[in-house]
Amino acid sequence: MSNKCPKCGSNLSEDAYEEITELEDCSIQVDAFPALVCTNQCGYYKRLIALPEIIAQESNDRFLLLYPGERGRILELGSMLLWPEMNVHALAGRGYWEDYNGNLDLQDIISRVRVMNEDDL
Ligand SMILES: [Zn+2]
Repeated sequence: MSNKCPKCGSNLSEDAYEEITELEDCSIQVDAFPALVCTNQCGYYKRLIALPEIIAQESNDRFLLLYPGERGRILELGSMLLWPEMNVHALAGRGYWEDYNGNLDLQDIISRVRVMNEDDL
């Protein structure tokens, strides 16, 4: 990634970041996550979401995403929807999936799509 820090213009590097919160009872809560962190240590960081893997596509609009535990979701680019999680084999059995050969910026897309849950259906 060739991102620049929006605050100071230095390079960002992918790193683990820790957010330390002091709770009301004075205990400390540490939340560690992957992030893009400013190499100039100006304090800027951008949290990274753990990304699924794209394993198949149907035309250039629907993509089958693989999550841990053999779970899958369908990503629809046209409507910017991420359909509810299901068993990935059940999803793969429906439709006309082809091998994924694209070059999508999932990090960007997933931060913008509407994520659907069972309750939304
Ligand atoms: Zn910076």
